[in-house]
Amino acid sequence: MPASNNMTSCFCGSQLPFGECCEPFILEKAFPPIAEKLMRSRYSAFAVADSSYLMSSAHPVLRKQQNEEDIKSWALENKWQKLEIISTKSGQSEDEKGEVEFKAYYIDSEGIMQIHHERSTFLKEDGRWLYHSGITPPKTAVKTPNRNDLCACGSGKKYKNCHGR
Ligand SMILES: [Zn+2]
Ligand SMILES: [Zn+2]
Repeated sequence: MPASNNMTSCFCGSQLPFGECCEPFILEKAFPPIAEKLMRSRYSAFAVADSSYLMSSAHPVLRKQQNEEDIKSWALENKWQKLEIISTKSGQSEDEKGEVEFKAYYIDSEGIMQIHHERSTFLKEDGRWLYHSGITPPKTAVKTPNRNDLCACGSGKKYKNCHGR
């Protein structure tokens, strides 16, 4: 389990405590009012490997194609390091559709830092935001950090000297 709890800042990087940010959504005590918060809560759900929330926050169309066990093992296999929101489009409380582009940094099972870069589409169903689909943005997509950038694990070392290949 990553080193975050109710008192430290949330996995999603909001600077708010987990218990005041993504946790109430993951526990389904509340629904995220905007698409970006749903996206953030899904990232945090990967960090705590809560596959049941990852299923329930997905659109029924997607849920049919997904297997909860597969999601859980993928979430556990990787160490979730950092979320970067690149841009958002619509997805506000009055909207029915929204897009969020993000990069999720994780250390894979071989110890290499990877970037999952995605533009996600969210739809509102019965007043609740759900994750519908995602694409890898063409051209701009990167899978690994720049070799001379600081490693996203927070060690302060360059990627090439830390979780680089
Ligand atoms: Zn959060
Ligand atoms: Zn590192």
